[in-house]
Amino acid sequence: MDFLDKKLDDYVVEHTGNEPPLLQELNRETHAKVLMPRMLSGHLQGRVLSMLSHMIKPNNILEIGTYTGYSALCLMEGLNEGGKLYTIDINEELESMVRHYFEKSGYSEQIEYLVGSAIEIIPKLDIKPDLVFIDADKTNYSNYFDLIIDKLNVGGYIVADNVLWSGKVIEKVKKGDKDTQALIDFNNKIQQDPRVENVLFPVRDGLMIMRKL
Ligand code: SAH
Ligand code: CA
Repeated sequence: MDFLDKKLDDYVVEHTGNEPPLLQELNRETHAKVLMPRMLSGHLQGRVLSMLSHMIKPNNILEIGTYTGYSALCLMEGLNEGGKLYTIDINEELESMVRHYFEKSGYSEQIEYLVGSAIEIIPKLDIKPDLVFIDADKTNYSNYFDLIIDKLNVGGYIVADNVLWSGKVIEKVKKGDKDTQALIDFNNKIQQDPRVENVLFPVRDGLMIMRKL
């Protein structure tokens, strides 16, 4: 579901920075070869992530949910010199494609790509990220938040994707729809958590942006 009508959405994209050539290629290859290409952030959200990263100027970024590497490469654009991005994904089938694009981007030295379950990997990471992008399995969003909040310095940011879930968060939850229920619970939890200040940006499928207090 698109929240903006097509014409307005086109206008927004036409008045947003261009998608860099390597990301255009990755976007196309993902659509041609990979299951569920809609999961890729895409042109507009990619430029939003790049802009946020430039604004925050993080030394360390943690991404949960690499998929084909598109959002990781957008977030890399604002990383401080000498900084690192850690990105985790459980899907080993995408590993060679992701590594290929990380190599091609010139950023591979600064990227730690970890293949495995994020719930198992995050507690072992001895890092203090100042920007975290949560974009993996929706039923674990609240767990991911709990696992990273104490690792963040005050003033660090967490961004969680798909928090509007095509608008389903305001509808009656269908029986057995665990993802929608998990996102409703996550949004309520964040709204009430005194450790963060939050804004729900209605960009694409909804970005919850949180700043640690
Ligand atoms: N951030 C990407 C899209 C991520 S799609 C972009 O914007 O382009 C969600 C990803 O989460 C999928 O690739 C999936 O394999 C991964 N994922 C799902 N469950 C996971 C888990 N338990 N641990 C780590 N990754 C997981
Ligand atoms: Ca997403």
